[in-house]
Amino acid sequence: MAAHLSVRGVSKRFGATPVLTDIDLRMARGELVTLLGPSGCGKTTLLRVIAGLTQPDSGVLELAGRDITRLPPYRRNVGVVFQNYALFPHLDVAGNVAFGLKLRKRPKAEIDASVKRALELVHLGALADRPVRALSGGQQQRVALARAIAVEPSVILFDEALSALDRKLRETMQGELRRLLRQIGATAVFVTHDQEEALTMSDRVAVMHRGRIDQLADPRTLYDRPATAFALSFVGQSLRLPGTVVDADGDGSMVETAVGQVRAPRRFLPGSPVIVATRPEHVRLAEGENTLHGTVTGVTFQGSRSVVEIDAGGAVLMAELPGRQALPDPGTPVSFGWPVAETLLFPAEEAA
Ligand code: ATP
Repeated sequence: MAAHLSVRGVSKRFGATPVLTDIDLRMARGELVTLLGPSGCGKTTLLRVIAGLTQPDSGVLELAGRDITRLPPYRRNVGVVFQNYALFPHLDVAGNVAFGLKLRKRPKAEIDASVKRALELVHLGALADRPVRALSGGQQQRVALARAIAVEPSVILFDEALSALDRKLRETMQGELRRLLRQIGATAVFVTHDQEEALTMSDRVAVMHRGRIDQLADPRTLYDRPATAFALSFVGQSLRLPGTVVDADGDGSMVETAVGQVRAPRRFLPGSPVIVATRPEHVRLAEGENTLHGTVTGVTFQGSRSVVEIDAGGAVLMAELPGRQALPDPGTPVSFGWPVAETLLFPAEEAA
């Protein structure tokens, strides 16, 4: 694949603190990659480097095969939508959206059509003549989105761009934004704290941890096969138990935990400290290939499924049970099991 946007070996320090370390990210044209990670892991800094607002200490950025590492922001054809949308207060909604197009000296008819299209996308068609001062925060955020989209840059960067919107509008916008980005063929990098948003919108998700990309994968792979204990804990729920490998053979490892032994298909040297994990939907309240014992501490009915909380030797685990079935009362001792094939194993030090 010829990358449309390519970030290679990018590092950045602020003083003595490394904020980005050897970042590699190659994106196809039209792809949407989300940067997901805890506060301070370097997401915004990476966006700023791509936009040209922060100069990296080392590394190379290429857009459509052209080295843009030293180009100023306005020559990169990269649009940015920040959370603190800087709108022009003296212009109306349409004026704000038209701003970049006028700067580029596009013909009036084309500007009008682009502004109309962008405003319709963000459901602000009816407010084109409103001064932006007279809009709510969520509406202003949508104007900022429309402004970035209107110039149809080849790369658009979104920093928590939907976070200020209420849940319903955010979900609508997620779908519509995804459709529009496909339509205009823009490559997009999205920063969000919201893992659901990341899984819903992205072609691939980059899980960032302390200035590095821990895993770069499509949402399904990330969920089913997290590469590290950190990626596991950051995306979705999981049962997690610390343990020690006591035996290993060609089929995997046997792990001793505080509440019993379990088998996993990944092989580690005996004596290795590990984290054993599985997703709640693989756990059943019956003996399985792996079986542990605990006490029910809570039951939550969620419509199409129920979640049973189990205390196993101090570790709290969730079992997600489909459909309607008789559920044990809190306080009941239970055996619970799950398949060996769905058992994940990580070196313990990766969890930190
Ligand atoms: P958040 O989710 O909270 O926005 P983030 O993952 O986007 O976090 P960054 O904003 O990229 O993280 O910041 C990463 C680290 O770099 C933080 O520790 C931050 O304090 C530091 N940092 C960012 N910008 C600067 C700067 N201009 N000077 C010094 N340190 C900075």
